[in-house]
Formats: sequence, structure tokens, C-alpha cells
Amino acid sequence: MYKSREVKVGNFILGTGHPVRVQSMCNTDTRDAEKTATQICALEEAGCEINRVAVPDMEAAQAIGEIKKRIHSPLVADIHFDYKLALEAIKQGVDKVRINPGNIGAVENTKEVVKAALDHGVALRIGVNAGSVKYLKSVQGRMELTDEKWAEVMVSEALEQANILEQLNFKNVVVSLKSDNFRRTVLANELFAKQSDIPLHIGLTEAGSFLSGTVKSAVALGTLLQKGIGATIRVSLTEDPRLQVRTAYEILKALGLREYGPNLISCPTCGRTQVDVTGTVHALEEKIYNDRALREKATGLKIAVMGCIVNGPGEARDADFGIAGGRGEGLYFEHGQTMFKLPQEQWVTFLLDKIKNWKKD
Ligand code: SF4
Repeated sequence: MYKSREVKVGNFILGTGHPVRVQSMCNTDTRDAEKTATQICALEEAGCEINRVAVPDMEAAQAIGEIKKRIHSPLVADIHFDYKLALEAIKQGVDKVRINPGNIGAVENTKEVVKAALDHGVALRIGVNAGSVKYLKSVQGRMELTDEKWAEVMVSEALEQANILEQLNFKNVVVSLKSDNFRRTVLANELFAKQSDIPLHIGLTEAGSFLSGTVKSAVALGTLLQKGIGATIRVSLTEDPRLQVRTAYEILKALGLREYGPNLISCPTCGRTQVDVTGTVHALEEKIYNDRALREKATGLKIAVMGCIVNGPGEARDADFGIAGGRGEGLYFEHGQTMFKLPQEQWVTFLLDKIKNWKKD
């Protein structure tokens, strides 16, 4: 079984034996500290635990101090090619820098970044994306290469970069190996995990739109997480970053690795349905996932909204709070007990009140 070393990012310890942490990335202009911090605060409300910002120039690096003052979670600076931006981001109080030592010029540059990271207790992440692997850039017909070959080349580049840090005795490092291709991503991460104890940040790059990206990410991340691979995850959807956070938690929740909001059971509806199951579920989710206190209150609860008396009572009885629909009303169950009939128009408010007033043991 894969076992990674521990790496510290802000107040979090990452690695085997620690919770898999949820990351996202801002899509604001980092130079606009106020706007970026506002988005990070919204992401924190959604449950995001580690946030990344792009640092394309010195002005963006200098904005990090102001952003850090306004947020509560560890911050990662995403930097390419210019080691001076890394030095400035570290000076400004960033918690982790995503930078590839092989891409920042002379080894002296890496030494400076490593020294600053050690002095400030900052972690580094080496990020290898299939699209920009150095070796593959020069290969003719690279799209015809097997997925195994892609994985091998990605891992070899990651290990090459990691060895530069190893030689400088720098251990507080995370690696990511991402592709938009499910097999390449899984194979690369599995191969790396066989050869190194460096914790992995996992995800598909450019996963796509909400539905297809969610499915692709769930399959890839689920495969890896089931094997104990993945210390942090990011779901890269072309969507509001808050939805990326929720999707990441839903994947972790389905795997039994983290809790996030309720376990909401509902039927797909059919010709027997005479109540609005879909509208009820949408309204409940809308309220719960846009209200941190409510979401936290609902975490761990099983709530069932079922359309009729065929399968409804069984599922509703198994839930903490469950409703089995009838004609315009439903039978309400609480912790296995049959309680009373409830008109459909009261369901959402009633269930939300139940969540608000529920006292955890
Ligand atoms: S619970 Fe009833 S209404 Fe819902 S899908 Fe099953 S049979 Fe149809």
C-alpha cells in the first residue's frame, strides 16, 4: 500500500493518515487583492481548504501580503519560470509555491527559492502537466504515443524536478501529475507513487464542463483515492470555483473519505409520482449548500425525499428525516418512526427547520 511522507502547508499536515484536503484556484486578477480575497472568502465559505492564485508578474506577487491579511486558509502561489516572483511571494507570506525547479534557470535560482522556503516554512509543489512535458514537446506524433508512455515521461520529468530539491535536502514538497486524459493521469500518479513517498496533489486538468468534467474527475480521482493516492484534490471544471469545491467534496463523500453536507436520498421519479420531488431536492440543496452553518449542521444527516409509497417508506424510515410522497402530501418519518402527514408545500421549510434544530450527539 502506498504511504507518503508528511508535508506541512499552513496549518495542515498533508499525506497518508491525514484528511484529503480540497483545493481550488481563483479566477480573479491576483493584482486586485480585494477582489481575489473576496473570492477566496467565498471559497472558504464553500469549504475550500487551500486556495491557489496565479502569479504572472511582480505586482501579483506583491499583492499576496494584502490577500493573506483578509483570508483564513493557506495560500498557494502559482509561478512559472521567474524565481524572483517566488522569492517575493514567500516574502509576502504565501504558504506554498507551485514552481518547477527545472524551469527557473541556474541551480543558484533554485537554491535561493529553497533557502527562502526553508526560512519561512513554505512548501513547494512541482506540477507536471501532460501538455507541457519538455520531452514530449519535441516528439513528432506525440498524440499517437501510448498512455503508458505518456505516464512514464511525465513521471520521469517529475522525478527529475524532485531530485533537484532532494539534492538540496528540501523535503516539504508535493508533486502533481495532471492530464486531461483519465488513463494517463491515473497511470502517471500510480507510477509515481511506486517510486516516491512525496505526497500527490491530484486532479485532471481542463476537465471540462460541469457534467462531463465531474464524471471524468470522479472516475479518475476515485480510482486513485481508493488506492490511498492523493493528499489534496482539485476538480478543474469550467464553472464557478465554488462548484468545483462542492464537486470535490461529493467525490470524497462518495468514497467515505470526508463528510460534507447531508446524505440526500431521493428517487428519480416515475409515472407514480404525484408530488414535486425534483423541486424539493433542488430547493433543499440550494439552501444547504449556500449556507455554511446549515451545511455544517446537516453534515452526517441522512435525509430522504421519495416520490411514492412503493419504495418511499423503506428509504424514508432508514433516514434521520424522511418523507414518502403521496397525492400532494407525504408521510413523514423521523429516525425510523412514522410521524404524521405533511402537505407538499411545507416539505422544504419543515426539513430545513429539522436540520437547524437537530442536536448532534
Ligand atoms: S419511489 Fe415511487 S415515485 Fe419514486 S421512482 Fe420509485 S416508484 Fe417512482
